[in-house]
Amino acid sequence: MPDYEARGSGALATSPWVLWCFRGTMALSCFLMTIAAPWLRAPSTAHLASSIPPFDVTPDKTLLLLPLGQLQERDVDFIARAIEARTGVHVEILPPRALPAGVFDFPSSSYDANAVLDWLFLTRQPGEWRTLALTRDALSTYDTDHLYGLANLREGVAVVSLHGFLDGLRDADPMRRAAAQDQIGRIAFHELVHTLGVEHCPAKGCLMSGITDKSQIHPGTRTCERCIHAIQDTLSTPRTPWLEVIARGDGFYRRGLYGQALGAYRRASAAMAPTEADRPAGPSHAALSDAISSDALPSHAAPSDAPPSDASPSDAPPSDRRPDSDRRFDSDASGRRSVVDRAEVENRIGAALFSLDRVAEAERHVRRAIALDPALSAAHFNMALILAYAGEEAEALHTLDRSLDLEPDRLTRHELTARFHLAAIDDPGNALLALRRYRDAGGDDPDLLGALIALQSANFIVFEPSEVEIIEGHLRP
Ligand SMILES: [Zn+2]
Ligand SMILES: [Zn+2]
Repeated sequence: MPDYEARGSGALATSPWVLWCFRGTMALSCFLMTIAAPWLRAPSTAHLASSIPPFDVTPDKTLLLLPLGQLQERDVDFIARAIEARTGVHVEILPPRALPAGVFDFPSSSYDANAVLDWLFLTRQPGEWRTLALTRDALSTYDTDHLYGLANLREGVAVVSLHGFLDGLRDADPMRRAAAQDQIGRIAFHELVHTLGVEHCPAKGCLMSGITDKSQIHPGTRTCERCIHAIQDTLSTPRTPWLEVIARGDGFYRRGLYGQALGAYRRASAAMAPTEADRPAGPSHAALSDAISSDALPSHAAPSDAPPSDASPSDAPPSDRRPDSDRRFDSDASGRRSVVDRAEVENRIGAALFSLDRVAEAERHVRRAIALDPALSAAHFNMALILAYAGEEAEALHTLDRSLDLEPDRLTRHELTARFHLAAIDDPGNALLALRRYRDAGGDDPDLLGALIALQSANFIVFEPSEVEIIEGHLRP
């Protein structure tokens, strides 16, 4: 499930903030100093209107700015400088590239923004930090036309459209031109911040709240303190290559590219496991750099059943043959964390193998994940799928219950239940019940909602206990 900003992922929270304050007769002079003055400067200094404090950025982060199609050099240049001024992140401008014809949506005469993000993810080079694409064409999604931008919260890619600002950017009036540049700079910042995993902010007037009209963005638009802290946390934390390899694998997995996902998960496992077991201080930078630089690019956009050529020939990384020695990490916090991380990776390897119909191998990895972290709900769930596949339905249902007991999030519990009854055992009644609970709890996965519609149109009638009571209540005199 790609977590584009429109779809969201999980929960990041809330708080009220004071944004702006004009006082009495000072209002006009404040306005002139803080708002009008920056607009009066040359366009290239429009970013000085920013109220965002400079961030501490570790030197391992470079934003790649990718012009798509024909863009004026000065437009790309001012956006690069605006991002650098607002964030402190170094920006590298890539040579322009043309968008593939397949991402053009003819009914809306615009590019499909989700397809653009897919293309960016699949064509980006291993080890890249973040990529922000710029286009002068209109962008749309299935439910929104004329998007200013779209970002993926977990895959490090975003796109910004200059389409709605071209008149302003070409205006003869330098103030209007500077205002348009300022707005684009803020939108580019907004989308870049999404790629740091920051969702839309509920604080009124925050630059990270959902932008539905460009009039929301002006030189007085601030970023609230909570968002600033979230941005600072990410920018000041050094990158973790093996986590990025896992995120890349997850991107492949979500797209059904299980062979490439498996390759990424194995590389992450090989990079993290031996060094953590042998050297508690952490994996060597050389090993990690090697892990990401060997990441293979997908050669096509269809699922690959072949194991990746650079996958480890051994099914089990060295540390997997001595699970007892890992237990010593349980006694300290960082060690516990590394065991939990390794369980996550083992579970992912199991999931990818299972999706490739390599069930026996999958089971070994999933069992290893459970041994490393018995509280890992997802691993128990995968074990339930494997047991159901083997025809051991009673044991599968028992394992599913264990998985649900360990899962704290209600929506995820409904999702797991629905997926199990849909895919593992043929139980449309229970699947429908779980899907309705999933939808009512706010679930928005298009595949699951599509399955719900299909089951409903197949005339499965399922009453929940509460519905039966309501019906009885109506029937009573
Ligand atoms: Zn947004
Ligand atoms: Zn905010």
